[in-house]
Amino acid sequence: MVRLTFYGGVHEIGGNKILLEDGERRLFLDFGFPYKKHKLFYEEYLKPRSGAGLLDPLSMGLLPPLEGLYRDDLDKTPGLWDQFRSEPFYRRLEQVDGVLLSHAHLDHSGHVAFIKAGIPVYSTAVTAFIAKAIQDSGKADFDQQVCYFNPAVRVCPPGWKQPSLLAANEAKQQRQFCIADVNPGTLGTAAIQFWNFGFWEKTARQKELASCPLKAHTDCTFNVRCFPVDHSIPGACAWGIETSSGWIIYSGDLRLHGKRAKLTEGFMEQAANLRPRALILEGTNVKRQTNVSDQEVYENGLKAIAGAGGLVIADFSPRDVYRLLTFLQIAKETGRKLAILPKDAYLLKTMRLLGSDIPEITREDNLVIYQDTVASRSPAMWLRNISQECDSKIVVAEDVRAAQDQFILCFSFFDLNELPSIRPGPGSLYVFSSSEPHDEEQEIDFRRLHNWLEHFGLRGYGLPVETNGDWQIPDDQKGLHASGHACGPDLLKIASEIVPQVLIPVHSEHPDFYVTPLAHRGIKVMLPTAGGTLEV
Ligand SMILES: [Zn+2]
Repeated sequence: MVRLTFYGGVHEIGGNKILLEDGERRLFLDFGFPYKKHKLFYEEYLKPRSGAGLLDPLSMGLLPPLEGLYRDDLDKTPGLWDQFRSEPFYRRLEQVDGVLLSHAHLDHSGHVAFIKAGIPVYSTAVTAFIAKAIQDSGKADFDQQVCYFNPAVRVCPPGWKQPSLLAANEAKQQRQFCIADVNPGTLGTAAIQFWNFGFWEKTARQKELASCPLKAHTDCTFNVRCFPVDHSIPGACAWGIETSSGWIIYSGDLRLHGKRAKLTEGFMEQAANLRPRALILEGTNVKRQTNVSDQEVYENGLKAIAGAGGLVIADFSPRDVYRLLTFLQIAKETGRKLAILPKDAYLLKTMRLLGSDIPEITREDNLVIYQDTVASRSPAMWLRNISQECDSKIVVAEDVRAAQDQFILCFSFFDLNELPSIRPGPGSLYVFSSSEPHDEEQEIDFRRLHNWLEHFGLRGYGLPVETNGDWQIPDDQKGLHASGHACGPDLLKIASEIVPQVLIPVHSEHPDFYVTPLAHRGIKVMLPTAGGTLEV
């Protein structure tokens, strides 16, 4: 009997943490950051205290009470586990063989940060590299440090009463990643250098201690198979795990309407051939009847931008590299230059290390890099490198201001504070190619966004507008965002073609959606409960 325990991703979109146990062999399927639970207690200026280590996330129910799973350096509160041993889902987990990571979105990967560094993370090469690029170029808090972390040490500053404060040690420690789709030995020198970037400045001895080479996935205690699928971030995959009950398939996040739908179709076919015992399937968009395709986004984006006389700002998820390429194509068609941020350029450069279908920035005429107006005194190494390597591609606010009708600026809400330096002129357009607000906090941000646009005289396009508390995109401006998730009918198609004996919905607010339609097709649906175990 295989036991599946759902520590996250039940009645919530994201935060997947699924423990698969077959006798004494154990794997986690993703170990994501639980945004929904996190937002119940925290916001930008109220966060779990990094200095308190595991105490805050355990106390607030953000991490399951699994003693033995987490990094020892975060476990410095005296008697920490005494207070959690009577919790309903408390367990001692001595041996976990690995985490199978489906993709680099933090709601699937973020809490890997807490897991012992010696527990390997299995992923595709692209997922590992994107996760590292995001971490290098972002401000990952201690609870989102996926690829490497600064081990915590105990300190007691002068005058401090309790010597239990944790501070981050300077030397970073890399996590063990095992690559499932490529033999790491065949990755080029530049790719390996990227992976170890940030780990060689210390002394030779520290370097040895801190860096951890990429490994192949073949020594996993389970026979696992990795199936590339299409999602709104490159490198996404589904997993197959051969267990004593038969094959168990985990979908991760996926769709059938994207540019790479063929990947998902290939996955369905191969998974069906395994005649799986169980399929753990996402259900983000079960309530949607249709999808907007990438092709429609291209056509609608082109239509909107072709008629614009001034500056165009395009707002989309910067991790969605395919969307970025769609807007690059639109830039070419409209004779504009696509201005991306240095961190997006770093992501493109990283992906280019693994595949040639990504453009080389310095050779792409329609691509430039927008450099922030206000510099930091000592920019991070990755930023310095990209600014030097792509020196001829850098544009600044003044360049954009002087030739507004020649640019599409890839900005999101958080980049709007550059607008006072740019001063958008008449006829400027803000094209919104992302999802609508999902909670109150996002609604507040949307109101602010509208204020910014009004203040600078920018016309919104594809932007949700609030009417009687409901956020709707005007009818004639729809079709500018292709979701990363399959709609209800597509999800049923995926389940019906794979034909598992049992289907377990996760990553959904409406898991019961599957029950009736799949019963007609002879597939039994088992509904997981938060922290509960299903036997298959
Ligand atoms: Zn995702």
